[in-house]
Amino acid sequence: MNDPQGWTQGGESLMHQRCGACGLVWYFHRSFCPGCGCADPTQAASQGRGTVYASTLVHRAPNDEFRALVPYRLVLVDLDEGFRAMGHGQADLAIGDRVQCRITSIAGRPLPRFHKDPE
Ligand SMILES: [Zn+2]
Repeated sequence: MNDPQGWTQGGESLMHQRCGACGLVWYFHRSFCPGCGCADPTQAASQGRGTVYASTLVHRAPNDEFRALVPYRLVLVDLDEGFRAMGHGQADLAIGDRVQCRITSIAGRPLPRFHKDPE
């Protein structure tokens, strides 16, 4: 699957980065730490477990591919590794729910989709 944003780096999990110097963790791929500027951050795969921070139901899609999916739920999730990611979500997700991420093909793109975590 084509993954231009690099959420997964071609794998099956959300990728994130950590700074070896100051310990900061972040999501969007960078070549240096946004906290202290240290170069050469390490890259790691998330286990995909987290807690819903915000949740919204989208009725107006940004383009035709997503228009076929409306209404659909978008969630912001605080992953247990310490970064926040946006993704599609199960229709009944609410703030505070524990979730598990699966990389799913949505409108032809590999995107994170969060499901209630049975834990
Ligand atoms: Zn740093």
